[in-house]
Amino acid sequence: MDNTIYLDHAATEPMRESALQTLMEESRTLFGNASASYQSARKAKSVLEKARTTLAACIGASPAGIFFTSGGTEGDNQALVAAAESAGKGHLVVSSIEHEAVLRTAEYLTRRGFSVTYLPVDEEGFVRVSDLEADLEAHPDTFLVSVMSANNEVGTIEPIKELAACAHRHGTLFHTDAVQAFGKLDLNVQRLDIDLMSVSAHKIGGPKGTGFLYIRPGVKIGALLRGGMQERGRRAGTEPVPLIASFAAAAEDAFSKREEEQERIRDLQRYLFEKLTPLGALRNGPAPGEGRLANNVSVSFPGIRADLVLAALDLAGIAASAGSACTTGAVNPSHVILAMTGDRERAEGTLRFTLGAENTREELDRVQKTLSGVLQRATCT
Ligand code: PLP
Repeated sequence: MDNTIYLDHAATEPMRESALQTLMEESRTLFGNASASYQSARKAKSVLEKARTTLAACIGASPAGIFFTSGGTEGDNQALVAAAESAGKGHLVVSSIEHEAVLRTAEYLTRRGFSVTYLPVDEEGFVRVSDLEADLEAHPDTFLVSVMSANNEVGTIEPIKELAACAHRHGTLFHTDAVQAFGKLDLNVQRLDIDLMSVSAHKIGGPKGTGFLYIRPGVKIGALLRGGMQERGRRAGTEPVPLIASFAAAAEDAFSKREEEQERIRDLQRYLFEKLTPLGALRNGPAPGEGRLANNVSVSFPGIRADLVLAALDLAGIAASAGSACTTGAVNPSHVILAMTGDRERAEGTLRFTLGAENTREELDRVQKTLSGVLQRATCT
């Protein structure tokens, strides 16, 4: 990478060296279609199945539960839409701080005649099991509960084990969007008792354009994409074997270094929070520790325009993001900060720095210095 200070790892991670090497090698040599029967195809098929086994082991699943997708968005769409189709009618429960891949799909299902509850969160972004319990009692026709493992904007780690247990007490399937948590947290689908889990490769230093949906063997949900019989009929389309092999290489690297990398990142997280507090930053989400992803530093400076601050940081070679979608001349306040605090000014003034193992304290010193200057000039209009 150039000398940009990259602090947007929740958006995407730079590719790991082993993932890059695998992608190049397998793209060169693995041109066979994994569904065909000649030698090069059989080689592609065996690489595909090896990757499936590697990735299944990362979540304590059997390989039969792994269905490759194009990434987190597709996995979320399939989990919700296919579960709805299989139920035919009924109620869906999602949290109000889900990624758009879940929220927009829930809206789509509303237009198709399903009803949806958006569970509230507390001021740190936690979903309460008691709220889910009450909602499931009120809606005995619920076919699916979907709550993310960890939030992409503020890093809150949701109590998915307890939420899944609650869903199961009511005879309902439980899906978790684990796009931000995979490779960072211990996500054993047996221990957590998860039915459906979406994962994306590019958030762990793998390539963009692949991921998987875990479907617990025995759970009857169908396909989103129809066509060939790839992925046992649950996801048609020629498998991008080089991408999938590269994904497995990234996962092997990420999981073998997980503790060491997370500890390093956790230290940087505390350091950056300490650096930003004297500038007037309000922390969004839980305190660093068990309830929060180690890589997430989301802060608000109420009264500032996040888009202007980010543009100034960008000019200084610092890549970060807002807790909101910025378009020219307008800031759409983050639905996550709004759900947590109800405070529009705070939501509009949110900056999200997400760390990676390659970041250094020296870089964070430069961020503080630059931000301090920028903040003096930035005001809300
Ligand atoms: N879910 C969460 C929580 C995410 O953070 C993202 C990406 O930002 C997605 C889903 C979408 O994943 P993908 O980019 O692989 O489609």
